[in-house]
Amino acid sequence: MSYELTEELQLITKNVRDFVYSEVDPLAGEIDRTNKIPEKIIQQSREMGLFGLSIPEEYGGLGLDTVGKFAVLEELGKTSNAFTTLIGGHTGIGTVGIVEMGNEEQKRKYLPKLASGEHIGVFALTEPSAGSDASNIKTTAVKKGDKYVLNGSKVYITNADIADVFTVMAVTDPSKGAKGITSFILEKGTPGLTVGKYEPKMGLHGVQSVQLFFENCEVPVENMLGELGQGYVNALKILANGRAGLAARNLGSCVKLLELSLDFAMERKQFGKPIFEQQIIQHYLAEMDLEIETLRSMTYRVAKMVDQGEKVIREAAMAKLYGSEVYGRIADKAVQIHGGIGYMMDYPIERYYRDARITRIYEGTSEIQKNIIAAQLRKKFNAKRETVTV
Ligand SMILES: Cc1cc2nc3c(=O)[nH]c(=O)nc-3n(C[C@H](O)[C@H](O)[C@H](O)COP(=O)(O)OP(=O)(O)OC[C@H]3O[C@@H](n4cnc5c(N)ncnc54)[C@H](O)[C@@H]3O)c2cc1C
Repeated sequence: MSYELTEELQLITKNVRDFVYSEVDPLAGEIDRTNKIPEKIIQQSREMGLFGLSIPEEYGGLGLDTVGKFAVLEELGKTSNAFTTLIGGHTGIGTVGIVEMGNEEQKRKYLPKLASGEHIGVFALTEPSAGSDASNIKTTAVKKGDKYVLNGSKVYITNADIADVFTVMAVTDPSKGAKGITSFILEKGTPGLTVGKYEPKMGLHGVQSVQLFFENCEVPVENMLGELGQGYVNALKILANGRAGLAARNLGSCVKLLELSLDFAMERKQFGKPIFEQQIIQHYLAEMDLEIETLRSMTYRVAKMVDQGEKVIREAAMAKLYGSEVYGRIADKAVQIHGGIGYMMDYPIERYYRDARITRIYEGTSEIQKNIIAAQLRKKFNAKRETVTV
């Protein structure tokens, strides 16, 4: 399947690559150390339209198709993963719900400021007792007149500390299980909505993943996103889109690690010659290259399928699973190739190593991706059996 970029997309991705290498990457270490993304590169990202990658042009976005969006995310993956998560989280799970399930009024109200980056969008599903088992959420939304009243809490919500618009899943009918969940759009400043305090984590320093609390938080009925009882299905659709985008970001990080490792292997001399001349180092690099090409094929295949309107439940799970596992393996090899310097904080390799780890957990763990793939296999088997029986 071909994923050639149009001339326009080639130009956009080149501009993003130049921006990443000249403006963002020199700050990546500082972002990690200070746990803060400088306003300068956020503003530059706004000016480049990066916050509106996949928001349609009529609402102020760049309106890229999925192949285009992934090509940009791949470039963004080549630097600070915190910076990439700010943009990737916002353009993925943070805004996709409103783009795909929002009604016209909601789109006109929220998308222009999300597209410009004036507002940040986040996705809030996970709760203290409901992570992988997201259908078990406990936050309730009870209808009172023309409002829904939300009570409960969410955990680990990425970018929530700076968010303006929240896509929140809550239970509207506890008797219906997953079919009793509904999605809502909440705005910053809504009385009863509180954002939790900073919580230190292993990596992704620069973006925060924090708790949200809803205490008699009143949301107008018109802020229901999609239909009553469709919140869980909406969440799965939003996550499938986000997962494939994460594979594209991981691809970029893997490409960057191979680039750094190859340069280092050619320059670093031991036993009188570059370590590249040791066959085992060549094999490490060859394995990295092979896995990157495989990941590239999988990732852009999903993008093409989405653009052609095909279902990608299996393929998005595969790309997310493979991309996260490969990123972990490649980061590990990169540390090994770099030896001692690969472990030191003055050099970027250990940062990628730490940042890679979360990709096997968030937006659905590796185990859950395998469950999704296996469920599709079961479906295929049952369909075959039904055909044979008939
Ligand atoms: C930094 C960070 C950012 C995040 N950002 C967001 C966000 O923006 N929005 C949001 O809603 N959530 C977010 N999350 C939550 C994230 O999606 C969950 O942490 C993840 O889905 C796993 O849930 P859990 O942590 O409750 O682990 P659990 O579900 O408790 O899982 C623990 C372990 O058990 C395994 N397991 C559980 N069930 C099964 C099963 N059926 N089969 C096999 N293995 C299983 C898991 O794979 C895992 O290994 C974030 C998390 C982190 C750490």
